[in-house]
Amino acid sequence: MSGFAPRGFSVFGFLVALFCGYLGQAGTVRIDSSAAPSSSAWSESATQLTREWYPRLGNLLASSDMVRLPDVVIRLSTTYDGVAAASGNTIEMSAKRVVELPEDSRGVIIHELVHVVQAYPGGSEGWLTEGIADYLRCAIYEALPLEQFPRPDKERGYRDSYKVAAGFLFWLESGPAPGIVRQVNAALRKGAYQESVFKERTGRELDQLWNEYRAVFARATTLPSVTKLWRHSKGTFELQSDGTWAELEGSKKIWTFQEVGRSASQIELLDPSRNLRLRLLAREVRLGNNNGWSVLYRGEWVANE
Ligand SMILES: [Zn+2]
Repeated sequence: MSGFAPRGFSVFGFLVALFCGYLGQAGTVRIDSSAAPSSSAWSESATQLTREWYPRLGNLLASSDMVRLPDVVIRLSTTYDGVAAASGNTIEMSAKRVVELPEDSRGVIIHELVHVVQAYPGGSEGWLTEGIADYLRCAIYEALPLEQFPRPDKERGYRDSYKVAAGFLFWLESGPAPGIVRQVNAALRKGAYQESVFKERTGRELDQLWNEYRAVFARATTLPSVTKLWRHSKGTFELQSDGTWAELEGSKKIWTFQEVGRSASQIELLDPSRNLRLRLLAREVRLGNNNGWSVLYRGEWVANE
């Protein structure tokens, strides 16, 4: 979903911006829930969020040629059934969805507001436009750990855009190229982006950097060849001679599990008596629940025992 058209230069706006500074010129966000009164409570909390985050997103993506954030209207609609769409400075969202998925919908607002702030001219690199929007949503606003971003194991996977590109940008920011998001953003806004910026910053081509990112995480997510003992700070999971798995605290066996599945990256365990499912991964044990899989322990495999 694309952002708004860049505003024309205004001498008055420029002088006011100089006088007030960037923050003083932040635009406003109004949430219009008149068509959907049942979402008014959500609208109030989301309005608070936009007051805090719209100027912050503006600062995170500040560049010398952008002096004022536009005023934005977020319209909750009972007839629109997509997730959200930005058109000009109006963002349309499904009223039903914000009630069903209130937290995710706050994240959607952050993503869409980034598009307003980006103000890139048409024809920009789509994977970067969406990747930057999800980088600010997931890595900065939601503080999602880098390991939890999706990472398809293929050449030029960053072109999957959105959260995949966001994780790649997060990794670049965290090591090989700090500040790259702001730098690329400024270039995109001017219509001057070139892929060579990655080589200038890191000495490696973009595609090489992607492969390096894949390799770092492939090592971190693949199980070792010997999978007998997995340890966390309070206990262990140990493969027994009969092929079952025991969960121990100290030397005391507390639960027994059957191994019901295995891949290169995980071993799936089941305790039929409690109908409880676990996944042993390279660096964590996850617990199956109604919402999917959540981290139960962090730890790792012990090589020789
Ligand atoms: Zn988008």
